[in-house]
Amino acid sequence: MSEKCEKLDQCGFFREFHGNTEVAQRGWVRMFCDSKEQSEICKRKIFSKKNGHPPADNLSPTGFML
Ligand code: SF4
Repeated sequence: MSEKCEKLDQCGFFREFHGNTEVAQRGWVRMFCDSKEQSEICKRKIFSKKNGHPPADNLSPTGFML
């Protein structure tokens, strides 16, 4: 089994939107959160590293605002 994003437990986007229809249709959780490697290009993760705090919950892994 591949490793997932280590931020899953604390990520506001995942917490609030992982069951959202649009998120499911776009496959963001599968594309980013379910893969440690791919999560490294998640815009939320990049934002957190740069700013020292997480972005708004509605910022998606691609940078699209829900
Ligand atoms: S949205 Fe980004 S930071 Fe949050 S769990 Fe998914 S990959 Fe990790």
